[in-house]
Amino acid sequence: THFGFETIAESMKNARVGAVFSSVASSYDTMNDLMSLGIHRLWKDHFVRSLSPGVLHAQGGQGQRILDIAGGSGDIATRMLDHATEVKKDNYTSVIVSDINSNMLAEGRKRFSASSYKAEDRVSFLEANAEELKDVESNSIDLYTVAFGIRNFTHKDKALREAFRVLKPGGVFACLEFAPTLNNPLANAIYKRWSFSMIPLIGQVVAADRDSYQYLVESIEQFPSQEQFATMIREAGFLLPGQGRGEPSSEMRDGGAWEDLTMGIASIHKGIKP
Ligand code: SAM
Repeated sequence: THFGFETIAESMKNARVGAVFSSVASSYDTMNDLMSLGIHRLWKDHFVRSLSPGVLHAQGGQGQRILDIAGGSGDIATRMLDHATEVKKDNYTSVIVSDINSNMLAEGRKRFSASSYKAEDRVSFLEANAEELKDVESNSIDLYTVAFGIRNFTHKDKALREAFRVLKPGGVFACLEFAPTLNNPLANAIYKRWSFSMIPLIGQVVAADRDSYQYLVESIEQFPSQEQFATMIREAGFLLPGQGRGEPSSEMRDGGAWEDLTMGIASIHKGIKP
């Protein structure tokens, strides 16, 4: 790595992640519903509502410029555009849906192909690695979102620094991701048993792809704890909500630097670029 080369382990992770998402792209939305019993929809709704994207009664093209990283099939982008349009009465806010995987982006393109957002130029697509957003200008984005994506990145710290670079001062970084451990030890034991046995099995039966879903379960285990991830966000230069730049403390949980969802199965982290 001193010479700028990827290590074998890193390139294997990239190839593995690429193969997983190429393979699951067409069954991705159905599998999400089955694996989470539909709860991922509630988490995504809550995530978007908590960000309240758009500008109230935006006029003259003055909406927000949003970048949805690892945007895959466009689940978050759709919700953000709906929120801006219906709640904020803003017809100008736009979203760049970005993903490293062309198959996942193709699902997003398909979803928006007949939508008025496409006709109004409020959605665009960018194939890019979140760790190197060459085509996104510095200080150009109002809101950066990443949902269930960052745990797949090889260098999460690099992606966080890129998020910081592309955001305008005052811009918001927001991440929805699975957490490795639930808050309650008994619930955690039951959940781990369920996810390690059932998710690969559902993958095998529904998508004929046990290995990809085995990877998804393992990648959740390896993701940093909420506290560690909050520290990484702070180290990239962001202010944590309600915290300034001080050391993270155990009170930061709900309403602080992160918010736990459904007993801490998933959590939302935010950061503000000063
Ligand atoms: N955000 C969508 C959602 O919430 O439904 C899709 C999440 S999907 C589990 C994870 C996505 O991360 C995949 O589409 C995958 O291609 C993308 N991804 C993985 N590594 C990436 C990287 N380094 N840069 C950008 N996207 C990446």
